[in-house]
Amino acid sequence: MKVPEKILTILREEKNFLIATHINPDGDAIGSALALSIALESMGKKTSVYSRDPVPGFYRFMPGHKRFTSSLKNALKTDPVLILLDCNSPERAAIDRYEFRCPVIIDHHETERDFGDVRWVDRAAAATGLMIFYLIKSMGIKFTKDMATNLYTAISVDTGTFRYSNTNPGVLRASAELIESGAKPNLIADYLYESWDRRRFDLLMMTLNTLEIQNRIAIMHITSDMFRKTRTKPEDTENFSNFPRIINSVKISAVFREIGKGVWKASLRSKGDVNVAKIAELYDGGGHKNAAGFKIKADLESARKALLKAYKKINDK
Ligand code: 5GP
Ligand code: MN
Repeated sequence: MKVPEKILTILREEKNFLIATHINPDGDAIGSALALSIALESMGKKTSVYSRDPVPGFYRFMPGHKRFTSSLKNALKTDPVLILLDCNSPERAAIDRYEFRCPVIIDHHETERDFGDVRWVDRAAAATGLMIFYLIKSMGIKFTKDMATNLYTAISVDTGTFRYSNTNPGVLRASAELIESGAKPNLIADYLYESWDRRRFDLLMMTLNTLEIQNRIAIMHITSDMFRKTRTKPEDTENFSNFPRIINSVKISAVFREIGKGVWKASLRSKGDVNVAKIAELYDGGGHKNAAGFKIKADLESARKALLKAYKKINDK
C-alpha cells in the first residue's frame, strides 16, 4: 500500500494535530486514532483525539483510550492540522460547525464526500487501521505493543477477525507483524467476543426475538423501551445486525434502532455481491459494500417498507 508523500510531509513538518473520527466510533476508528496519536507523540508532536461519542465500555481495553475527548475547545486553541480517520465528511464526525487548517482524510469507505485538502481514501483497504499501519511504517516509526494492540484490534473488527471477503494476504502479513510487535490475538479476541455484559446479551436476545424475514431480507428492531428495560445503551448494539447472517438463506440483515421519536437508524449487513452501501446512499447514509447505515424519519413499518423498496430499486438498476 502506497502512502501519499504529501501526508508524510505534513506529518513530519507540522507540530499540532487533531485526530478525529466518526460518531459512534467502532474498533477501527478507535484503534486507528489511538495508534496514530501514540506514533505522532513518540516523534514529539502534540495530538488531540476527538470523537463526539464516548469510547464504548467494551473497547476500553484499547491502550490509550483515555486520550479521547468529546470537546474540541482545547484542541482548537493550538490551530491543529485535522486528520479525519475512518470517515470522509465533517458531518460523519459531527465537526461540520468548525473550520480546520489543512484537513487530511484517511479512510476506506465506499461512500465519498468532497472534503479535505489531502484525501487518501482507499476502498480496497480492509480497515483504516491497515492504512495507519503502513503510514506509521513509512514514517520509520517502530511499532510499540500499544500501537500494535490498537491496530490489530482495528483490523480484527473490520475483517470480522479475518473472516470477511476483505481478508487477504496483505491483511494477514500486517497482522502477523503486529503480533510480532506485541499484539495478543487471543486476548484481543476475548475482549471483543467473550466479554459482553449480561445486559447487552439480554438486549441481543430481545432484538433477535423481533426477527422477520421477507424476500431473504432479515429485519429486526430495537425500541427505546428495550434499552430502558435492559438498561443498555445504543453502543451496545454494535454488530447486532450481523447475527441473522448466520441463516444460510439470508442475504441482507438489517436492524432498525430507535434514535428519537419516529426516527430510526438502520444498520445493514449483506453477503457476497449485495451492495448495502448503495441502499444506504439512497437515504443519505453510506458505508461499505457489506456493511452500511442510514437514518430515516418514519414509523417502523414505513422504515421497513423503505428498505425493501430500496433493495428492489438497486436490483432493478
Ligand atoms: P454500523 O451498521 O456498524 O453502524 O455501520 C456499518 C458501516 O456503515 C460503518 O463502516 C459505518 O461507518 C457506516 N455507516 C453507518 N451509518 C452511516 C451513515 O449514516 N452515513 C455514512 N456515511 N456511513 C455510515
Ligand atoms: Mn473502518
